[in-house]
Amino acid sequence: MESVNSHQSKSDSICTWHSASSELTCKEPIYDIKNQFCLLHSVDPNKDQEAIKRYIESKHRRSDFNFAGGFFPGEVDFSNITLNNANFREAIFMKNANFSNSEFTVEACFFGAQFRENVKFQSAIFIDKAIFSEVIFGITAYFSDVYFKSWAGFIGSKFIGVANFNNAIFNAEAIFDSAEFNNEADFTETEITRLANFLFAKFHDKVIFHKTKFL
Ligand SMILES: [Zn+2]
Repeated sequence: MESVNSHQSKSDSICTWHSASSELTCKEPIYDIKNQFCLLHSVDPNKDQEAIKRYIESKHRRSDFNFAGGFFPGEVDFSNITLNNANFREAIFMKNANFSNSEFTVEACFFGAQFRENVKFQSAIFIDKAIFSEVIFGITAYFSDVYFKSWAGFIGSKFIGVANFNNAIFNAEAIFDSAEFNNEADFTETEITRLANFLFAKFHDKVIFHKTKFL
């Protein structure tokens, strides 16, 4: 019986987060005792920014980019790096997030993520699938000069601010089905080499397809 008890106390001390859209759970130690969440999953807006920075850096050193369900109360910088297997599913970015000039080498998942302020992917490269479905873009979403080498999906995503896809290259399917553009959607000089789908997409403001190339 003793071993059962010790097992129970061990399981009680790990984070209780679980994904709403997948089977993912978390095994990190508890940081936020009240809500039984680890440092990454704690939704405390005042959680230790420096500790989060160190946590991101230590994961980066291990090439671990699984931040599914992460709650980022401050600005985050993932620019100019290589991200293998990036998983930001359901992550919440309360401030600006920067992924500019970064390279995503394996499938990049942002499914259900929320960017409450600006997010920059300028000149980023997605080698494999780029999953941006069900994402909420709170202010401006910068995808200018992005190279989507494989399938890119923005299914059911909501752009509250400007959606900037200037000069972006979609080398495979670009799927924007049921996406909602509440502000300007700018596809100036965007290059779409295969299928572009905007089935049931809603444009509430200006949409610019100036010099857009559908090859
Ligand atoms: Zn956790």
